[in-house]
Amino acid sequence: MRLAEIAKALKVTPGENWEEITITSVSFDTRSLQPGALFIPLVGDHDGHDYLTQAIDKGAAATLWQTDHRLPATDFPILPVADTLAALQKLANYYLIKINPQVVAVTGSNGKTTTKDMIAAILETGFNVQKTHANFNNQIGVPMTVLGMEPNTEVLVVEMGMDHFGELDHLSRLVEPDIAIITMIGEAHIEFFGTRDKIADAKMEITHGLKEDGLLIYNGDEPLLRERTKELLQTTKTFGEAANNDYQALNIVGDEQRTSFRVACWPEENITVPMIGSYNVNNALAALAVGDYFHLPVEKMIAALTEFQATANRTEWLVGKKQERILSDVYNSNPTAAHLVLKAFSQAPTSGRRFVVLGDMLELGAAAAKLHAGLAADIDPAQIDEVFLCGSQMASLAQALRDKFDSTRLHLYASNQKAKLIADLTAVIEPADLVLLKGSHGIHLEEVLAALR
Ligand code: ATP
Ligand code: MG
Repeated sequence: MRLAEIAKALKVTPGENWEEITITSVSFDTRSLQPGALFIPLVGDHDGHDYLTQAIDKGAAATLWQTDHRLPATDFPILPVADTLAALQKLANYYLIKINPQVVAVTGSNGKTTTKDMIAAILETGFNVQKTHANFNNQIGVPMTVLGMEPNTEVLVVEMGMDHFGELDHLSRLVEPDIAIITMIGEAHIEFFGTRDKIADAKMEITHGLKEDGLLIYNGDEPLLRERTKELLQTTKTFGEAANNDYQALNIVGDEQRTSFRVACWPEENITVPMIGSYNVNNALAALAVGDYFHLPVEKMIAALTEFQATANRTEWLVGKKQERILSDVYNSNPTAAHLVLKAFSQAPTSGRRFVVLGDMLELGAAAAKLHAGLAADIDPAQIDEVFLCGSQMASLAQALRDKFDSTRLHLYASNQKAKLIADLTAVIEPADLVLLKGSHGIHLEEVLAALR
């Protein structure tokens, strides 16, 4: 775009001789800024305005400038705006209307990134697709995703995260989705919301910008969502395991590498995703529902899912130094995900033993003790040989497990006692054993993973 067009979109007047400057990308971070970029200095922990010299050195073509900052003495092209973040969002909205792709927006407590990537994999069989890079799903990530679109983009798949009311409302109105997806309602961020009801209310904000003739696809096994969609004007489709869903999963079978299932509306087809965890069936159902809306042939969609490459660092099987196999998910934990992963792990076949290492699930607020203790129901002494718990919240789970596991099989560590945990764990591991590692990123179980490998 010419700077003149950008200035017009932002309703500012560019300086003399600047109209013809061509902008080929936008950047708010000089470390990744490409020549020809419009620099958008954002005010956060650091103030982007302090990095103008670096932006110019890297080849920025122009910059926005927030008017509460003193204008630098330079003849570099500057567009003054009241608020650079608001300007980034406004520019994204302008560019979106200009390129005019169909927009698919994905939210939910868990499974957003996986579902977003599965949707893109399926849609790529028939369309030019652009999707959110990695996990770039907030008030900055969403407009950056929009502005990263190639001009020939036919479908844009955007992940939308939130931890407060109003955020999805804003993001949804920014991109006006043709399709909105709610993967599930969990307990993530319950610290801020208090109840799952309120979390469901906040997730429903994704419909605020949904086009009038748009479609909402959601997890129909969640009564909180069923209740809230009754009055919705737009069309809805549901997925899940219950028979009343439009896309109902049947015959879910998992092994250590993949999960297979059937969908009631395509009874002939057997579908496989190269990922473990029955929850990925729901993610795949949501993606299939999107592909179906775009009339893609089911065989093509199934082939795309079979080949699907999950974003790294999520639940994955790895091999440790002693040839033990490690089911690792050290970046994310919450009660729903932990429950599902414990279920999958407890059923994973082995000739050895199963060890569970769990770290605190953070950001659960007042309900934390109860939610941690609740995991006891998923830890069966007949399936699990020893339990290693790490973090202050885990005391309540340890308490809840005491009548099932004696002290030789149940170990509790403070989060700064990882060296002891690692020593105790490595002392008992033998080849063919299975080890589960799961905890919130703040507990840093990746240190245990690194030691085992
Ligand atoms: P974030 O909030 O970090 O962006 P996300 O919503 O994008 O997370 P993913 O990255 O897709 O979620 O998955 C994170 C973890 O959540 C997985 O490793 C798995 O443990 C769990 N998970 C994924 N999908 C589901 C689902 N549909 N239901 C419950 N848990 C899920
Ligand atoms: Mg994500």
